[in-house]
Amino acid sequence: MKLVFATHNSNKLREVQALVPDHITLLSLTDIGCTEEIIEDADTIEGNALLKANYVLSNYGYDCFADDTGLEVDALEGAPGVYSARYAGEQKNDSDNMNKLLINLATKQERGAQFKTVIAFAKANKTETFTGICRGHITKERHGDGGFGYDPIFKPEGYDATFAQMAPSLKGKISHRGLAVAAFLEFLHNQK
Ligand code: IMP
Repeated sequence: MKLVFATHNSNKLREVQALVPDHITLLSLTDIGCTEEIIEDADTIEGNALLKANYVLSNYGYDCFADDTGLEVDALEGAPGVYSARYAGEQKNDSDNMNKLLINLATKQERGAQFKTVIAFAKANKTETFTGICRGHITKERHGDGGFGYDPIFKPEGYDATFAQMAPSLKGKISHRGLAVAAFLEFLHNQK
């Protein structure tokens, strides 16, 4: 069975291909000739994941799954959320985004936050979503140089290190994305 993973990132594709059941072959957006930008203009993380998966199903006819992630900060009523990539502007710069977040939290005592990943799976007549949440808090300064995005300022609950200070294998096990992928894989393994 062929399934599209709505990404152009071949590393991401290879990682997930190693985890899915043997009878499933994953195709990337590049593999199916989808080179146009899929406009992610929903106002929720779930909405954007669904939008991408449904776009591929309706325009290319392949069953498809797509992921979308955001950082939700308690003291900012869930911001930046669905706008995490472009929090500080359309240049989508990680450093600018972290600076803006640290400034907006400078006067706040409450620093709780969570990463949320939603994987949406669209197949004929049906969509399913799988959510992974990782709770933690936003540090006052950056620590570590691994990872990407907001990793240097996010410490997951129960660990005295930011995501940027962790081995990728540990981050993968406890992260929002890791949990969402695990839930999706369990679903696929239970399908006939
Ligand atoms: P995407 O939906 O995976 O493209 O993620 C949207 C944005 O959320 C990214 O541009 C990052 O700013 C942020 N983000 C997503 N996943 C992570 C993560 O694992 N660590 C830190 N930031 C992340």
